[in-house]
Amino acid sequence: MKQSTICVHGHDKRYDSAGAVSVPIFQSATFVHPGVGQSTGFDYSRAKNPTREALEATVTALEHGVDTCAFTSGMAAVNCLTGLFKPGDHIIMSDDVYGGTLRLFVQVTATYGVKFTAVNTSDLSSVSAAITPDTKAVFVETPTNPTMQVTDIAECAELCHNRNLLLIVDNTFLTPYLQNPLDLGADIVLHSGTKYLGGHNDTLCGFLVSKSPEVAEQIRWLAKTTGAVLAPFDCWLVIRGIKTLAVRMERQQKSAAELAGFLRTLPTVTDVFYPGLPDHLGYEISKKQARGFGAMLSFNTVNKDVALLALEKCSVIAYAESLGGVESLLTYPLTQTHADVPREQREKLGITDRFLRLSVGIEDVEDLKADLAQALRA
Ligand SMILES: *Cc1c(COP(=O)(O)O)cnc(C)c1O
Repeated sequence: MKQSTICVHGHDKRYDSAGAVSVPIFQSATFVHPGVGQSTGFDYSRAKNPTREALEATVTALEHGVDTCAFTSGMAAVNCLTGLFKPGDHIIMSDDVYGGTLRLFVQVTATYGVKFTAVNTSDLSSVSAAITPDTKAVFVETPTNPTMQVTDIAECAELCHNRNLLLIVDNTFLTPYLQNPLDLGADIVLHSGTKYLGGHNDTLCGFLVSKSPEVAEQIRWLAKTTGAVLAPFDCWLVIRGIKTLAVRMERQQKSAAELAGFLRTLPTVTDVFYPGLPDHLGYEISKKQARGFGAMLSFNTVNKDVALLALEKCSVIAYAESLGGVESLLTYPLTQTHADVPREQREKLGITDRFLRLSVGIEDVEDLKADLAQALRA
């Protein structure tokens, strides 16, 4: 089946006898055993719940994995992932990752003795150079949040596998509709399902998808043991969100491409970062490894005042954190998503006081253009 069909029909197992087309919300913490030593397959919802199973199976099918665990947020998924490592282990990560991921790794996980090195993973020689005898994994976000750098997943996977390292890819920005890192050699895919998969800015959710049964078993054990598993109602909301993932992505990325070109024509905008622009550094790699360029872009304004005014003046577009939903959102990474990134690293990446990130929603693109034009004034 093609991705858009899996989005709608991802899970064909029926859990009820009435023939409900929509997967029922099994709002139950525990399940009755038919007899001693017997189980319906469901015992306790922290371990397994039918609504969650339906969601996880859909994401597994979309990402071409063997298993998926659904968590209460993207960060809960990242936190669970850290359970795969022990004190002394070393992880190489993209230097431009979601600010919350960096905060967790550096301010929490590192205090348990796991070591991290941040490098520009779009430059594979820096990844190679950072490998030590303790290195166990490479954690890549591509395209990165918020500067839109692109890493060649297949080449990175080859490098990792030659050294026996796990390759973990945060696929939040492109979603399995546009990119399948496991097919390119990654071992684990991470998602903030809060973003495009949920798609409506109404539910927090995270996923870890595994390629091998061994890794899948470890992650499932960790999820059950640490317990940040997604609640049945939220699972249902994300199942519903995924049904329209394909049509949303098509619309959103079409508008994003148009807006990337439009922003370039505005005198108050100096640089636009969108992998679909032919002069973007990651354009060719994106064409090779993904089926589209996505609907996230970022840009620099001529100065700080223009950026701040735009945040206040935008009206169709909301000034808010998050991304990927049907509503377009404008974000100021400096004080919002990336406030915890050390200043030096932020400046190196170009996350300055005139840098804005735009998540393009499904509104009419002409309304979005008009809104940007009136908001981005000198
Ligand atoms: C939002 C986000 C996260 C964290 O997910 P939450 O659902 O907010 O916890 C991780 N990675 C990326 C790329 C994100 O955009």
